[in-house]
Amino acid sequence: MKNPQRFREFVARFSALAEAGGSDERRVLDEGGRLLAGLVSHDDWLPEEFARESAQSYRQYLLYCDPRERFSVVSFVWGPGQTTPVHDHTVWGLVGVLRGAEICREYAPHESGKPMRRVGEHRVLPGDVDKVSPTIGDVHLVANALPDRPSVSIHVYGANIGAVSRHVFDEATGAVTPFISGYHNVVMPNFWDRSAEVRMSLQKR
Ligand code: FE
Repeated sequence: MKNPQRFREFVARFSALAEAGGSDERRVLDEGGRLLAGLVSHDDWLPEEFARESAQSYRQYLLYCDPRERFSVVSFVWGPGQTTPVHDHTVWGLVGVLRGAEICREYAPHESGKPMRRVGEHRVLPGDVDKVSPTIGDVHLVANALPDRPSVSIHVYGANIGAVSRHVFDEATGAVTPFISGYHNVVMPNFWDRSAEVRMSLQKR
């Protein structure tokens, strides 16, 4: 973690955005999307523990949660060949790729008793940001596009996403299963130890 200040600045700016425009979803997605694009265009700040893949399934690590749970920031790690199920979010979300490449496959809203209908698919590369929400399209699947390497993305959601009650859909039948993702970490990264900078500035005096 060479540049933890990138993440500190991102959180500070996102907090200001939540304060000023938190109820305006379009503004949060536009301005927040630009903030996230800035964060994920540099791969020099995420501690390795929070970029670690697992052979079992993709990982979801909580990096920060706003004290009022207006937003949360998560790192997602896909091993080769790993994919999420088709799922919804029920809140706005921003998906920024930090490392590798991902496939995002979008679906039309669920219709009871019908198979899920694909409406789009695209590849997302480092620095790219994808957006989801119940108003602009909320159902998708995300997969690692690389067969031989992990991919890592940073997501921001308009809630404490690990505790949000949402849904997973069976692509072929449209069957709905309740889904609460939780997080794979119990300890969060420390981006706020600025003691080395303060000591350096004292030595220079
Ligand atoms: Fe998602």
